[in-house]
Amino acid sequence: MLTPSNKALVPFISVDNMMGLVHHIGIETFIINLAAEIEIDFKRWPMFDKTPRIASHSDVGVIELMPTSDGEMYGFKYVNGHPKNTKKGLQTVTAFGLMADVQSGYPLLLSEMTLLTALRTAATSALVAKYLAPKNSSTMAMIGNGAQSEFQCIAFKAVCGIKKVQLYDIDKEATSKAMSNLTSLGLEVISCTSPEEAISGAEIITTCTADKQCATILSDNMVGAGVHINAIGGDCPGKTELHSDILRRSDIFVEYPPQTRIEGEIQQLSADHPVTELWKVMTGSIVGRKSEQQITLFDSVGFAIEDFSALRYVLENIKGTELFDQLDILADPDNPRDLFGMLLRAKP
Ligand code: NAD
Repeated sequence: MLTPSNKALVPFISVDNMMGLVHHIGIETFIINLAAEIEIDFKRWPMFDKTPRIASHSDVGVIELMPTSDGEMYGFKYVNGHPKNTKKGLQTVTAFGLMADVQSGYPLLLSEMTLLTALRTAATSALVAKYLAPKNSSTMAMIGNGAQSEFQCIAFKAVCGIKKVQLYDIDKEATSKAMSNLTSLGLEVISCTSPEEAISGAEIITTCTADKQCATILSDNMVGAGVHINAIGGDCPGKTELHSDILRRSDIFVEYPPQTRIEGEIQQLSADHPVTELWKVMTGSIVGRKSEQQITLFDSVGFAIEDFSALRYVLENIKGTELFDQLDILADPDNPRDLFGMLLRAKP
């Protein structure tokens, strides 16, 4: 049995081991537990170092670094967003991340985070819906049936008790793929031929499309009173999914306003348009859903604290398992000041 080393060998979670860990815990239990960890960290929001993520944009996509620290541990994620990648057989979003000990600065964990990002995004969406969606919601529209979509559907089933998902994508193959992946996971799954059909009767609408432009996945007349919108896909400057009139009719909830103002749906609004920080809803200082008629909108862009919670959860759960490797990525001379001597002694 492996034990994470706290010195020079750094535990590393490969994609294989991440999949092993998720199945070891169970997909739904993993998401439920992860949502609980994210909730814990949102409730201690003021303790964290916070900064909008550091983004490097190109014509085809974005590469971002997402750091944060709670004073004891420091974490960051490297993540890309390249909507045209799938045409080349590559993923739109890939990621890896690291957690370190603030006292020594030594890494505690290096991990794949492509799967973990999908899991944490879904866990965050469902956690937020637990606070904002109409009580006893049973149907969710899932618009955009790409890599994130099944994670979202399963999270809403596990955390919010959603029973039925109505899928729509401009690419029918994506919907067929999601239908087949979700079959036998305990959800009623409906394939739809238009976004209007997908949102019909749904109390929750999730938009998760990828396009580096200001698209209109939902127009104002499509959205009725009382729904909760979980807008995942608009997460970059110049990339939005909702018509701005929907935003004006909604109460808007965000992770970290300085980042969401640049990247979220609210980039379409004036910089002083009121938004509510989710951590304040979770700590109970602000009420989220106030009436049956209210449209609540989670303008999700993904924030570093969610990745921090996810890495913290993985670090805790690999203990006592063999679901990690140990990487020799830190030079560790016997005499800490003799780095050069260590190099000389290694001469072949
Ligand atoms: P993906 O490329 O695998 O899937 C996107 C899907 O959207 C594709 O199937 C595509 O056909 C579909 N689509 C595009 N335009 C559409 C339209 N007009 N109507 C319906 N469907 C449409 O991408 P993914 O990995 O699932 O990610 C989706 C989006 O979510 C990306 O923009 C990504 O950056 C974003 N994302 C956000 C977060 C967050 O925390 N908010 C986290 C991860 C990913």
